[in-house]
Amino acid sequence: MQGAGETCGVIHGSIAIVSRFEWADDLTLPKVFHDDTTGFDVAGGFTTGDKCPRCWKYDEHPNEHGLCGRCAHVLHED
Ligand SMILES: [Zn+2]
Repeated sequence: MQGAGETCGVIHGSIAIVSRFEWADDLTLPKVFHDDTTGFDVAGGFTTGDKCPRCWKYDEHPNEHGLCGRCAHVLHED
């Protein structure tokens, strides 16, 4: 599910408004939620990178103005 995880990560990251999303078979972070219907466990923690001043998501490769790739694209700075 590695390849699908990347695609799903982008989609879920936008829905959940998180900076990063990964599918994992084993949790390496503390579990914060369990969904009884799907059996999924959700874990959360801090990510790395710099905080985009426009959307507040963290990005490991911001542009020279500190914008994440998405905001740079929206503002035509990419
Ligand atoms: Zn941004």
